[in-house]
This record gives sequence, C-alpha cells and structure tokens, in this order.
Amino acid sequence: MSGTSQQTCLACGAPMRPFISQISDDRYGCPGTYAILECTRCGHMTTTPPLTEADLPALYSNYYPRREIDFTALEAEARQAERPNAGLRRWFAGTDNQGHYMARPGDKVLDIGCGSCLSLLEMRSMGVECWGVEADPNVKAIADRYGLTVHIGNIYDVPFPDVKFDLIVLNQVIEHVPDPKAMLTAVKSRLAPGGRVALAFPNNGSFHRKMWKERWINWHIPYHQTHFNKASFSRIAADTGYNVQSVRTITPNLWSVLQLRVAREQKKEGVASAAWSGDAAASAKPSLARKIRNVLASRSVRAAGMLIGIGNRFIDAMGKGDSLLVVLTPSNR
Ligand SMILES: [Zn+2]
Repeated sequence: MSGTSQQTCLACGAPMRPFISQISDDRYGCPGTYAILECTRCGHMTTTPPLTEADLPALYSNYYPRREIDFTALEAEARQAERPNAGLRRWFAGTDNQGHYMARPGDKVLDIGCGSCLSLLEMRSMGVECWGVEADPNVKAIADRYGLTVHIGNIYDVPFPDVKFDLIVLNQVIEHVPDPKAMLTAVKSRLAPGGRVALAFPNNGSFHRKMWKERWINWHIPYHQTHFNKASFSRIAADTGYNVQSVRTITPNLWSVLQLRVAREQKKEGVASAAWSGDAAASAKPSLARKIRNVLASRSVRAAGMLIGIGNRFIDAMGKGDSLLVVLTPSNR
C-alpha cells in the first residue's frame, strides 16, 4: 500500500485514505490483492493499484466468463419487453435500472458496452434505431445473427462517425473504465442537439454496501475501478461539462439474491465463486428427496423474492438503492 495514501480524489481533489486494506476477486478467482481508498471529503472510492486500458483485454479474456451464448434464452428475455405490464414488472424486479429503457421511438441510441445485445434487441422492438459498442469479440456472433450494428472495440475508436445520438447509454460500464472523465468527454462529442447520456452504475452510498461491508458484491475487484456515490458522480459530471438532469437509485432483486448466496460462501483469493459460476450440484440427477426439497425451496425462494422486492423498492424510494441511474445533458451547448 506504499504511496497510495498520496492519491487525491478524482471528484473533489481531497486526499484519499484506506477504506478496505485487502480485497480480492471473489467472483471469478483472478489472483491478486487490491485495496479500496475513500475520499476524506466526499466519500468517492477507488480500487488501487489502478488498471490501465492496456491491462483490460488480458484480464477480461482470462477471468471474465464469456459463456456459450444461449440464443433461445436471449430471445425469450428480449420478448419480456413486449409483455403486458412490462414496465411494471421491471419496476418490481428492479431491472429498470438500465438507461436504454429511456429511449423513445424514433430515437437514435448508442449503447456502449452492449454485452449480450439484449438492450439492442429490446430497443429495436421499441422502434428505436440503435447501435452498440462492445470490447468482447464474442459479441460479434450475436450481432451478426440478429442483424444488429455493433462495433467491436471502444468509443475512442470513434465508431459510426457520421451518426449523432439522441441517447447514449452506459449500463454498468463507467465503473469499469480506467478513466471515467475521458469516457464522459468522449461520449459528449457524440450527442445530437438535445441529446442525453444515461448511466447506470453501483452506488457506494447504498444501504446494501453498508450492510454487507467487505462482502458487497459491487466491489467486484479488480474489474470495478471506481466506486461512485451520488455526490461524487455529480461533481465528475459537472467537471466534464454536464448538467445532471435526474438521479434515481434502483436495486435489481437479482443482485440481492446473489448477495445472499455470496455471503454464505467462504471467500478465497484465486478461487472462482460457485454463486457466480453456476452451481455444479444442480446439474447432477436429483434424488426424489432432493426433488421434494427443491419444490419447497422454490416456493420459499418465490416468497423470499417477493419480500426482497418490497424491501428493495422501499430502500430505492429512500434514495439508498444499490444502483444509480443518472441522466446527463451537456452544459455547454
Ligand atoms: Zn472527494
């Protein structure tokens, strides 16, 4: 940890102090120990030592699980957006924490870090004209299959140079990038007049972070480089030439379920977590006793899911939810 205490806050410039002195990857078993630093003034946090853009390809291709793509599951998921009361269902599940649901029919939308392309499929069915950017080359197969326009690379490549966007979406992306200010600046130059940027990312001021402390799933070391809160992100946005149009906190119920599973595990540096990599026991042929237990368990899981949903919607309403959804507009047009 030598030298790290001299770092200053990206948001406000105040000195940083150690917050968690030793933390490692408890999802995918990437070896190495990191620390979390906290700003002494605004509570902004960073992972140290920091990564550079050059570190990312090896890290993500070696340790981030890119499973075989299940096209049937992806298509079924995309059809959820067309079900009656889809918006209400998303509200209860906490899955409306994603910026692309703000797109309006006829908008031109760029999704940076589009991953499985689910957001692009959903937007296309909403009558939105959409483009994606994704660093993972595996995503090309998805884009090709569904005729989606996805640039494999990053925003600094200036993809689709002739298009200006009404909405640019970064769903759970800004916390991964080594230089959030550079990302916000690059994105701003791609907006059409009246355009907005919608970002979703974990909230270090959340109830869940305080409750789960070092086992909070959204530390996600070392992939999450920056741990923002509402105030620190607003400062960074202002510094890069934006106004904050709206801020909400939303907690996906799935995050709470994963959090409960993770909390039961013994964490071990360099070992992938069963909660994140899938349960090996589940693929074994179940005994009758296990089948009965599974039925009982799935009922209690459903009841627990309902309680988790009610709890999360209440916490979100208090502004203490686990994901921030922020909408920015340029301040200097
Ligand atoms: Zn600060």
